[in-house]
Amino acid sequence: MTELQNVLVHKEALQQRVRELGADISRDYAGKDLVLIGILKGAAVFMADLMREISFPVGIDFMAVSSYGTAATTSGAVIIKKDIDTDIRGRHILLVEDLIDTGLTLKHLKEHFLNSGALSVRICTILNKPSRRLADVEVEYSGIEIPDEFVVGYGLDYAEQYRNLPEVWVVKTGEAD
Ligand code: 5GP
Ligand code: MG
Ligand code: MG
Repeated sequence: MTELQNVLVHKEALQQRVRELGADISRDYAGKDLVLIGILKGAAVFMADLMREISFPVGIDFMAVSSYGTAATTSGAVIIKKDIDTDIRGRHILLVEDLIDTGLTLKHLKEHFLNSGALSVRICTILNKPSRRLADVEVEYSGIEIPDEFVVGYGLDYAEQYRNLPEVWVVKTGEAD
């Protein structure tokens, strides 16, 4: 049985941090041609909030990926299930993610976009589990660091449920008592 255990990050804390990230990004990319690329499905909620905190026009696109094997066996290679349809050559890319865990997915995507002719590629995540990192990948815009707990809400799912929760919750998984 699955149940929600407790709120880990409240709505107000998410809103505040998204505003700060938007201000940082607006300052760092002022006068530049920026494309935000959200990683589906988890980043959809964060993406919608973040883009509205950026003070100049940006391009947006989305992609969906899945990784080969498990974190223990994967090389970090990912399968692109849905690709972007934006021409990103010569443009600055900001990858927008819900949560960085091992970092393997984002490390691969960063290299993928650099090899595809992007001028620069940075990473922005709303949640970050630094204790779980396996890949050596720089996260230029890191929202809120959380402990190694399985979380849902604010775009994140458990079996495709709970993405619509406005807060981030810890899930309790295990046997019913
Ligand atoms: P990684 O950084 O390990 O390559 O991939 C991180 C991805 O795994 C996240 O973007 C998210 O989709 C998923 N993930 C990692 N930790 C959690 C978690 O606690 N809850 C949920 N719902 N997904 C997670
Ligand atoms: Mg994700
Ligand atoms: Mg998921």
